[in-house]
Amino acid sequence: MSTEKIPYKIYLSEDELPKQWYNVRADMKKKPAPLLNPATGRPVTADELKAVFCDELVKQELDETNAYIGIPDEILSFYKMYRPAPLVRAYCLEKALETPAKIYYKFEGNNTSGSHKLNSAIAQAYYAKKQGLKGVTTETGAGQWGTALSMACSYFGLDCNVYMVKVSYEQKPFRREVMRTYGASVTPSPSNTTQVGRKILEEFPDTNGSLGCAISEAVEAATSKEGYRYVLGSVLSQVLLHQTVIGLECKTAMDKYGIKPDMIIGCAGGGSNLGGLIAPFMGEKLRGEADYRFIAVEPASCPSLTRGVYAYDFCDTGKVCPLQKMYTLGSGFMPSPSHAGGLRYHGMSAILSELYDQGLMEARAVEQTQVFEAAQRFARVEGILPAPESSHAIKVAIDEALRCKETGEEKTILFGLTGTGYFDMYAYAAYNDGKMSDYIPTDEEIAKSTAKLPKV
Ligand SMILES: *Cc1c(COP(=O)(O)O)cnc(C)c1O
Repeated sequence: MSTEKIPYKIYLSEDELPKQWYNVRADMKKKPAPLLNPATGRPVTADELKAVFCDELVKQELDETNAYIGIPDEILSFYKMYRPAPLVRAYCLEKALETPAKIYYKFEGNNTSGSHKLNSAIAQAYYAKKQGLKGVTTETGAGQWGTALSMACSYFGLDCNVYMVKVSYEQKPFRREVMRTYGASVTPSPSNTTQVGRKILEEFPDTNGSLGCAISEAVEAATSKEGYRYVLGSVLSQVLLHQTVIGLECKTAMDKYGIKPDMIIGCAGGGSNLGGLIAPFMGEKLRGEADYRFIAVEPASCPSLTRGVYAYDFCDTGKVCPLQKMYTLGSGFMPSPSHAGGLRYHGMSAILSELYDQGLMEARAVEQTQVFEAAQRFARVEGILPAPESSHAIKVAIDEALRCKETGEEKTILFGLTGTGYFDMYAYAAYNDGKMSDYIPTDEEIAKSTAKLPKV
């Protein structure tokens, strides 16, 4: 172990950056269950997926055997513009908490989109371009994914059509304008540009829109236009694969200084950022080379891992995507309007769900007022104003550091700081004004929703 003082920020040099993504499925003895075609109830084929998704991404989605997948040079050059993401030793937070624990965080907010989502957006845009497509369509709720995708598309000269949940379109005009600045077209959903949108508008003219509806519109737009495909910002295994750059950089940086984390903590929405952060460490655990604790943190308002069921479900409320076996609250589950928009997803990555089911990962649900308390505490000593989603990980990292203070253990904690919170100031205002509330669904509400899971 190096006795050298660990720098505040550990940056890697260009040639230390990962050149391959790591596919953790290759090291899993029991793999995630296959995606099913809802129409046939049979495993979805590559050809079926290719009608909706880009060819190369379909290949990555279905690949369970190749442990390493080369990152194309064009993507590596783009990564170099904003990566490596710094791995920061939270000396000031440790001091404030008076903990013997050593705390590190990997900060993914150092790009204009403000989150880790750009890591996958650029890969998906690249493969769409390489396939000779004209453009891609997607949905966005809070706006982080749409922002990242619009940046990636403008880089490769691709058309980008974003269906943005109407209420966010109206309430988050700045996200919308960032997307338009990068050349994306942003349509409030439901809209009259698609059949499904027109149908919903006819029935519910005053609807605020929903993510499920926006997905349905984006899929219809992609499949009804020549040269377009649909892309998704989390949940799918291909997205988790691209996000492994986060964990691979961490691993290289920590190995360089002889640091071994005892526990790795991350927030989990669809699970791609956490999956990407833990992947190389999980690989070591799966191969029996090392042991780590992994903790997924989710909002108590949308507790898919801690209170959901492990079953096949639709990935979207619109029921147009394949069925995936995952921890889910049911695709019709309507989480209360919490301020961590990026974590309001009813299901979870199939990879993380399987790892959790095998007991290789833990999960914890936290309430949003506690999350904002942790966010404020972190911001005041570490400087960065964290995204509400990321602050879920901060909350549990602080809890664990305080436990070390009680026991006197010098544990090493690594957590993922997925992004910044500059577009979430209404949420911070609610917290600062003491107007934030916690909503936890009842067992009955969850049971009602999971009772409607598709029968397979
Ligand atoms: C989208 C988002 C998340 C959720 O990420 P998943 O990979 O879907 O779990 C977390 N933090 C921020 C800042 C996000 O934008």
